[in-house]
Amino acid sequence: MGATVADMPADTVSVTGWGRTAPTTARLIRPRTYEEAAAAVRGCGARGGIPRGLGRAYGDAAQNAGGAVFDMTGLDRIHAIDADGGTVLCDAGVSLHRLMEVLLPLGWFVPVTPGTRYVTVGGAIGADIHGKNHHVSGSFSRHVLSLELLTADGEIRRVRRGTPLFDATTGGMGLTGVILTATVQLQPVETSLMSVDTERARDLDDLMARLVATDDHYRYSVAWIDLLAHGAATGRAVLTRGDHAPLEALRESTRARRDPLAFRPSHLPAAPAFLPEGLLSRRTVSWFNELWYRKAPRARTGELQKLATFFHPLDGVPHWNRIYGQGGFVQYQFVVGRGQEETLRRIVLRISEHRCPSFLAVLKRFGDADPGWLSFPVPGWTLALDIPAALPGLAALLDALDEEVATAGGRVYLAKDSRLRPELLAAMYPRLTDFRALRAEIDPRGVFVSDLARRLGL
Ligand SMILES: Cc1cc2nc3c(=O)[nH]c(=O)nc-3n(C[C@H](O)[C@H](O)[C@H](O)COP(=O)(O)OP(=O)(O)OC[C@H]3O[C@@H](n4cnc5c(N)ncnc54)[C@H](O)[C@@H]3O)c2cc1C
Repeated sequence: MGATVADMPADTVSVTGWGRTAPTTARLIRPRTYEEAAAAVRGCGARGGIPRGLGRAYGDAAQNAGGAVFDMTGLDRIHAIDADGGTVLCDAGVSLHRLMEVLLPLGWFVPVTPGTRYVTVGGAIGADIHGKNHHVSGSFSRHVLSLELLTADGEIRRVRRGTPLFDATTGGMGLTGVILTATVQLQPVETSLMSVDTERARDLDDLMARLVATDDHYRYSVAWIDLLAHGAATGRAVLTRGDHAPLEALRESTRARRDPLAFRPSHLPAAPAFLPEGLLSRRTVSWFNELWYRKAPRARTGELQKLATFFHPLDGVPHWNRIYGQGGFVQYQFVVGRGQEETLRRIVLRISEHRCPSFLAVLKRFGDADPGWLSFPVPGWTLALDIPAALPGLAALLDALDEEVATAGGRVYLAKDSRLRPELLAAMYPRLTDFRALRAEIDPRGVFVSDLARRLGL
């Protein structure tokens, strides 16, 4: 007899995104085989289901009130590695952390990594994630050679690049089906260290000028930006850019040279559930930002940093998202196109005038877009910031910013969103109509659904 939902580990639990806002209750089903995954999809009931990876989307993309959530992390096998050609075939529940552990010793790195390595391959494709190398390497889907998708009819389809189903699935937020496996093209590296250049920018214009002038010299680039600085210092920033260090950059007879592909990220103790009242106040964040800016060198080149330090500093503090307390936090990320620098300036000014206590704010320049219909990146400027959800006036501020972004032809990132109003979605994502039509065709009963999809009418 085939697998049924009743045979699988399943619990009714409260589910949230990484920002811990808007929790809803769902039946969390954990398939251990592809047959179980198919049975879970066929038997998920009237409220439908949505695949979930490691829950790092900030908002409500991987939750489904009153329905099913398919926890795909139980399907996490690495099936094949081509160590010469640099490809990996793996289950979608494998994390990028695991891929790094396995692939770095072989001289390969994931082609795109976000600010945390605790995301799954399924989540990376579902949100079509971008990294610090977007201006050079595009988003994750650019490196996906093919994938297998479990669709609403319970069948498994092999989906090739260049097909409508591929373009609807990459960035499709889990709404076309459950990705079961993917074949991914990797990035060759000689060492597990990064060669990093750091510089300070005195204000937003200085920062943008530096990014435009020299970003193309670097594979990876990102700027931490002080959104509490005001007056002449509005938008001051610390710019860090770099590339994988070549073997010759490591000094002879050092431990690093003897074991150049070692990957041993360190961890601090988990963040406490609550920090003392007021620790994330404007005053303390402003003080922290001042310190961060001042401690950065005015200009330093060729510093060797561990991969984890350069790409994933927050992963060193497990559960850091708890520091915002019960109310959680909103991550707001938008992109506006090249030529919309004035809009960016206006938005940065508005955020800094509102005095948002945000110490995790980054600005990056995106390169060419990839074909995913709901893929977020377009060539231009993207700003991402964390804001405590309880900040007075936050809803009105972000609604106003959404309007500015939409008017400028930009968009907000669905993997971070928990609050966008549906009216603006079509302007932000012009391929929305195609996406809806394809979903209606391959999933006529609406099996795949999430809180995000209901809220925005995806
Ligand atoms: C600290 C931090 C830093 C981040 N930095 C970045 C960044 O730099 N760039 C960036 O792009 N994002 C960034 N993110 C967001 C994160 O990369 C994405 O939200 C990613 O989708 C999370 O993957 P996940 O495995 O946790 O998926 P989840 O959060 O569980 O799910 C995310 C989406 O993917 C879908 N999905 C998950 N698994 C599957 C599957 N098997 N099949 C089909 N769909 C699936 C879900 O339905 C959902 O819509 C960051 C998040 C954090 C917490």
